Amino acid sequence: MERFDAIVIGTGVAGASAAASLARRGRVLVLEQFDFLHERGSSHGGSRIFRHAYDDERYVRLAQAADQRWRALEARSGERLLLRTGGLDLGTLGEGDLDPIEAALGAASSPVERLTADEVRRRFPAYALGDDREALFSPDAGVLAATRAVATLLRDAACEGAVLRERTPVTELAVHDDGVELATPSGRVAADRLVVAAGAWTDRLLSDLGVPLRVEQQQVLYLRVTDGRVHAPERMPVFIDRRGMIYGFPLFERPHALKVSDHEGAPTVTLEERTFDVDVERAADTARRASELLPGVTTEVVEAQTCLYTKTPDEHFVLDRLPGHPHVVVMAGFSGHGFKFGAVLGDVAVALLDGEDDAFDLSLFGIAVRG
Ligand SMILES: Cc1cc2nc3c(=O)[nH]c(=O)nc-3n(C[C@H](O)[C@H](O)[C@H](O)COP(=O)(O)OP(=O)(O)OC[C@H]3O[C@@H](n4cnc5c(N)ncnc54)[C@H](O)[C@@H]3O)c2cc1C
Repeated sequence: MERFDAIVIGTGVAGASAAASLARRGRVLVLEQFDFLHERGSSHGGSRIFRHAYDDERYVRLAQAADQRWRALEARSGERLLLRTGGLDLGTLGEGDLDPIEAALGAASSPVERLTADEVRRRFPAYALGDDREALFSPDAGVLAATRAVATLLRDAACEGAVLRERTPVTELAVHDDGVELATPSGRVAADRLVVAAGAWTDRLLSDLGVPLRVEQQQVLYLRVTDGRVHAPERMPVFIDRRGMIYGFPLFERPHALKVSDHEGAPTVTLEERTFDVDVERAADTARRASELLPGVTTEVVEAQTCLYTKTPDEHFVLDRLPGHPHVVVMAGFSGHGFKFGAVLGDVAVALLDGEDDAFDLSLFGIAVRG
C-alpha cells in the first residue's frame, strides 16, 4: 500500500491551500473525486469578495493573515489574484448594525471610514443610497479571482512535489492511532496525517463530526449594466448590504454585466436533490433589489450559476482536529464566507497538525465547543 506523510481530501480552496502548505513539509497525496477546478462544489467561478470587515476581531485578524498570504502567493506565482476595489458595508442609520464591524476593524488596526449616504453617492456614483442609510468603507477589500486562485494554489502544491489525483473519490476512511487508511476505486492508500476538506460532502466521510452541516443551493446572477464607467473596479467597491444581505461586485469577469447574489433565502438541499438550475423567481427578486441600489444595473440576467454553501448552525467555520485524533484536521462548514481565508487555511491546518495552538486564534472554530 502506498504511504504518504499526509493526505488531503478535496481540492476546493481549503484543500488546495492545505496541499500547498503540507507539500512544503513532506510527501503529500491530494485526492479529488471530480475533475480539478470542477463546478459542482463551492470554490468555482470568476470572483469572490475579499474583506477584513467582520464583526469579530478574530475574523479580522484571520483575514489579515490571509491577505499577507494571498500577496505572497501572487509574488511566488506571478499571478494577479486579488484586485483591490475597497469595500462598502451598507447599514441603516440609527440601527447600529455597522458598529460591531467598525469596532472589530479598529481593534485589529484595519483601516475603515464611516460614510454618510451622501458621501457614498458622491464618491461612488454607482450607488443610490437612501438618506436613511450609512456605510463603512474598507480600503483593503477587493475581488479574488476564485477559480484562478484555486488553480494557483494547486499548482503551488504540484511544484512542491505533491501527488495530485483527480477523479479519485475516497470511499472509505479508517483512522488509526498512528495514521489513516483510505479506500479509493484505484486502491488503498495510507498516511501519518490527514486533512479533510470535503466541503458539502464532509458528512459522507465524517458522519459523527459533532457539528451539524446543512447544504444550501446558492445562485449568483450577472446583470447587464447600462454604463460601464461608474461600475469600473476603480470606481465601484464591492458591497454587502446588511439590510437584506444582497452583495455584489464591480465589472470583473464579464465586460457587460456585474455579479450580484443574495446570502440568504437559498433552499436547503441534499446532494442528491441538488440541481444546476437557477430559481428564476428568486433571481428576479435579487435583480430587482440590486437595481434599486444600483440604478445603472438592469434586471436583465445575462448569466447565472449555482454553487453550494455548507452551513453550520452559528455560521462559524469548523477548523479543528478531529476529537481524539490529533493527526486528522477537519476544515468545513464555511457557511458562504470561507473563500477569502483560503490562502491562510493551509497554514492553519499545519499549525493544528503540529499542535501549534498559538499560531492562530481559532477559538471560534472548534468542534467540541459547538457539539
Ligand atoms: C454563491 C457563493 C458565493 C460565495 N461568495 C463568497 C465571497 O464572496 N467571499 C468568500 O470569502 N466566500 C464566498 N463563498 C464561500 C466560499 O466559496 C466557500 O466557503 C469555499 O469555497 C469553500 O471551499 P471548500 O474547499 O470547503 O469546499 P469545496 O470547494 O466544495 O471543496 C470540497 C472538495 O472536496 C471534494 N470531495 C468531497 N468529498 C470527496 C471524497 N470523498 N473524495 C475526494 N474528493 C472529495 C469535492 O469534490 C470538492 O472539490 C461563496 C460561496 C458560494 C456558493
